[in-house]
Amino acid sequence: MNSAQQTQRPTSAELDAADPLAGQREAFYSPAEGQLTAYLDGNSLGRPLKATSAKLASFVEDAWGSRLIRGWDEQWMDEPTTVGDRIGAVTLGAAAGQVTVGDSTSVMLYKLIRAAVDAQPGRDEIVVDRDNFPTDRFIIEGIAAEKGATIKWVASNPASGVRTTDLEGLLSERTAVVVLSHVAYRSGFLADAAAITARVKESGALMLWDVCHSVGSVPLELDAWGVDLAVGCTYKYLNGGPGSPAFAYVNASQQDRLQQPIWGWMGADNPFGMTESYTPATGIRSFITGTPPVLAMQPLKDMVELIASVGMDAVREKSIKLTDYAAALAEDMLVPLGAEIVSPRNTAERGSHITVDHPLFGDVTRTLWDRGIIPDFRPPHGLRIGLSPLSTSYAEVELGVTAIRDALAELL
Ligand SMILES: *Cc1c(COP(=O)(O)O)cnc(C)c1O
Repeated sequence: MNSAQQTQRPTSAELDAADPLAGQREAFYSPAEGQLTAYLDGNSLGRPLKATSAKLASFVEDAWGSRLIRGWDEQWMDEPTTVGDRIGAVTLGAAAGQVTVGDSTSVMLYKLIRAAVDAQPGRDEIVVDRDNFPTDRFIIEGIAAEKGATIKWVASNPASGVRTTDLEGLLSERTAVVVLSHVAYRSGFLADAAAITARVKESGALMLWDVCHSVGSVPLELDAWGVDLAVGCTYKYLNGGPGSPAFAYVNASQQDRLQQPIWGWMGADNPFGMTESYTPATGIRSFITGTPPVLAMQPLKDMVELIASVGMDAVREKSIKLTDYAAALAEDMLVPLGAEIVSPRNTAERGSHITVDHPLFGDVTRTLWDRGIIPDFRPPHGLRIGLSPLSTSYAEVELGVTAIRDALAELL
């Protein structure tokens, strides 16, 4: 970018002043003055809402402390699906009765992928990309070993992600399920979920989207896209807190056809019947296994309502502006020092983070964390700048990228 263009670009102060969502930042807890200067890792762990402390205290005192065991009958038994329906309506484009909250993302992936393979005898291949998040690949390796299934690896460009054409030659009458990330954890590539889902379903296989990096930052239309299965986590852009539970989406058309493999009493049709053997519940409840993590589900509820009040389209619009701004700053300040932007330039193909590579970024990240500037690092060389649309300001992005440049320059 030449200096004429630089002077045309609005300053971070101007961008913040013109940002219709700027006021939403007030809803988030931030540490005392001077402790933290730029948080660029909300894609790994969202900040808490200010409301969360009071929410948890009141849950302890009013719900748990006062209602005690009665709470299960009064409310908690239904929380996995009532909270699931709300996540579905606000962020997933999912009609009620198709989302349940519980377990970890890894366990939910296991349950749904195993169910997809079990339901289709004769289809013994699982398609997944080599750059997918480790847990997705590991879970599939385990299922392949357990079931004698074959993994068909998609080779895609690591600086972008999986496109429909990358699947050609891999889909056949032997494909059971295709597992892809909607937004790639490393590059931030946003896949064309509608087109890929249509292509996969044409082959007769089931489509499972991992939406960990898109839920709460990119609008989803799981019902309209004809998606069969999806799994996501709630501690990233849904700000549920460390270890908050995952959610699973099972399209209504697949719920009777699929049986998940971890049979527990809470997914049985009569949990308190203490029956001799397992009969699954009907509908989405059959995807539950054990006692739901009710306590850990409380904080995310407020975030889902905050997103509902703003709307996913407005969230996406700010996300695009933040990533554009971060990419422009990286172009100006980091590329001249030998760094490379390894995220898509086209905003239509980008989620809510960008990744910049440099061989020294491991050391740079350690230095920055000590200085209160928090991006994250993904080996071998990737520094990720995550932009949470409702809690990140343009000033924070500028401060962060400037600090990355200074720390890198010190090491060169
Ligand atoms: C964060 C993330 C996970 C996390 O899995 P857990 O079981 O919650 O640890 C899985 N897949 C993707 C794509 C992720 O980004």
